[in-house]
Amino acid sequence: MTASSSAPNPAPPQVLLAHHLRQLKLPTFLREYDHVAAQAAREGLDHPRYLLRLAELELIDRERRMVERRIRAAKFPAVKSFDTFDFAAIPSLNKPLTLELARCEYVVARENIIALGNSGTGKTHISLALGLAACQRGFSVAFLTAASLARQLMEARDERRLGRLQAQLAAVKLLIVDELGYVPLSQTGAELLFETFSQRHERGSTIVTSNLPFEEWTSIFGNQRLTGALLDRLTHHVHILEMNGESYRLRQSKARQRRKPQPSEPAPVAEPNENNGV
Ligand code: ADP
Ligand code: MG
Repeated sequence: MTASSSAPNPAPPQVLLAHHLRQLKLPTFLREYDHVAAQAAREGLDHPRYLLRLAELELIDRERRMVERRIRAAKFPAVKSFDTFDFAAIPSLNKPLTLELARCEYVVARENIIALGNSGTGKTHISLALGLAACQRGFSVAFLTAASLARQLMEARDERRLGRLQAQLAAVKLLIVDELGYVPLSQTGAELLFETFSQRHERGSTIVTSNLPFEEWTSIFGNQRLTGALLDRLTHHVHILEMNGESYRLRQSKARQRRKPQPSEPAPVAEPNENNGV
C-alpha cells in the first residue's frame, strides 16, 4: 500500500491517491476515505467491507449529483413538487391519474400530457412537479414557455442553427411547453412549434399546458389545418389533466382577507391581477 521509493522526499501516497481519485472522478471516495477508514477500524470492518461502504457512498452521491445536473439542465423557473400541491384546492383534477403520472411510466411509453384550465389553477406547478419527478427518475427534461420556445426556434433559424436546436429538443426525454395560448404565435413561430411537436411524436414525451380548450387552439396557431395536424399528433397518446377552477392565488388572498376583517384598517391592497401581462 505504501509507496516505498528511494527517491528523495517521496510525495506521501495521499497526494497521488487524491490525484488518481480525481482522475477517476470519484470525489466522494476522496472526501470520505479517511473518515470511513476510522469508522471501519472502530467497527472492525475488513477491507472488502470498507471498500464496499466507500463505493456505496460514491454511488449515492453520484446519483444525487446527476439529479441536480438534470434539474439545472431543465431550466425550471422554480423547483416545485407534489409535496406542496394541495389537490383539494382543484377538485376537477384527477388526483389518482396525476399521482400515477408522477411515476413517469408515460415517459417510458413516450406518451404526452396536456393540462388545460384557466389561469392560476396550478398547471405550471403540476408541470414543474412532473418535470422534477422525471429528473429524479433519470430522464432528461427541458422546460420552456411556448412563447420562449417559438422565439428560440426563430432565432435559431435566423442564425442557421435550427437543426442543432431541433436535434437537442428532439433528444430530451420530456419536453415541457408551458402557457400555450397566452400569446398568439406568428405564422413562422407556429410552424416551427408544430415541427418540434412532430419531431417528438412517438419519440419522446411532451407536456403542454394551456388556458385554452382545444376548440380554441386555432387562434394560437392561426391556421386550422396546422392546428388539426398538431392536435392529431399531440393527442395520439395523451393524458388530459382538467384543471378548471378557482385561481389558487385569488382564493388564498380572499382567505387572508376573511381572516382579518378589521374595518378600521385601510382596505387591503389588491393582489396583482393574474391576467395582467397575458
Ligand atoms: P397556472 O399555471 O395554472 O396559471 P400556477 O401553477 O402558476 O397556475 O399557480 C399559481 C400559484 O399558485 C403558484 O405559486 C402555485 O405554486 C400555486 N398553486 C396553484 N395551485 C395550487 C395547489 N393546488 N396547491 C398548492 N399551490 C398551488
Ligand atoms: Mg402557468
